Amino acid sequence: MLVLMRSDAAPEEIEAVIKHIRERGFEPVRLPGADRTAIGVLGTNPAATLRDMVMNLPGVQDAVPVSKPFKLVGREWKAEPTVVEIGHLRLGDGKSFVIAAGPCAVESEEQIMSSAAAVKAAGAHILRGGAYKPRTSPYAFRGMADEGLRLLAQAGKANGMPVVTEVMNVSDVEAVASHADMLQIGARNMQNFALLEEVGRTRKPILLKRGMSATLEEWLLSAEYVLNQGNPNVVLCERGIRTFETYTRNTFDLSAVPAVKELSHLPIMVDPSHGTGRWSLIPSMAMAGLAAGADALMIEVHPSPADAYSDGAQSLRPDRFATMVEGLRSLAVALGRTL
Ligand code: PEP
Ligand code: MN
Repeated sequence: MLVLMRSDAAPEEIEAVIKHIRERGFEPVRLPGADRTAIGVLGTNPAATLRDMVMNLPGVQDAVPVSKPFKLVGREWKAEPTVVEIGHLRLGDGKSFVIAAGPCAVESEEQIMSSAAAVKAAGAHILRGGAYKPRTSPYAFRGMADEGLRLLAQAGKANGMPVVTEVMNVSDVEAVASHADMLQIGARNMQNFALLEEVGRTRKPILLKRGMSATLEEWLLSAEYVLNQGNPNVVLCERGIRTFETYTRNTFDLSAVPAVKELSHLPIMVDPSHGTGRWSLIPSMAMAGLAAGADALMIEVHPSPADAYSDGAQSLRPDRFATMVEGLRSLAVALGRTL
């Protein structure tokens, strides 16, 4: 439930409402707005009697039920967009278009250093690279773990770029958080609720990928787990969903971008690399993502895709990545966005 205070409500009236809600065993959350304060009430279905009670308090304009199952991440709860800051980068401000790029996995010092230099030169803002890789087969390359984290952080520093990398285990959150500027929760862990709560206890920016068979509602409820632990810095990432189509690795759900914007105040990134699985389709889908209103983009780039330990078929060569970024720059100008 949301209690909407009148725009001329006195601070004591707001405090009195908060006190009343708390005394009845519910958790009030103060939501200051541009011209009036709202008070959110968390908990399953606050009793109808609570609504009747607060409606009679001075300064209250209305008390309305929140119609969606998610609350903290919803537009009903918070109308203004959330801006997630990573250093000087601002994801979700409606203006900047932030590009994260790099290899699927950190494979060696030379590979990550050359990838970082190449994506930086092309105009990427954030360096990506997996150190802990979720792989379908236990026999596939599963990442360099600790050493990969160290090399990624080193490559980021050497090129003045913040880094994002996946964390798969609750027990690794502290180590990954000490090396990375943003923690990625992969598609396969979107509903690992213990992991979501653990990253929610940090204050690091979290990149929450959409599960490959998750509805928008399930995805937003996963984000709710993170915010509910006190971490508001969540960026959602559309990375394609499973459908009957087999030409592409996944079906890149572009409509998720404006749909998420309607439902939530959180920023959204698009990942056409995993979304399509084919390097040749990525530049068009990256342009489409920007045009659809995404706040950020993730692209897999490898110095030699044919030799990549993972996801080579969807990795762009550095020269193709650079050409793609030039195209995005022109489109951004037309859309009033900046790269
Ligand atoms: C990745 O970003 O390398 C990755 C494994 O992505 P996803 O979780 O979307 O498959
Ligand atoms: Mn990958």
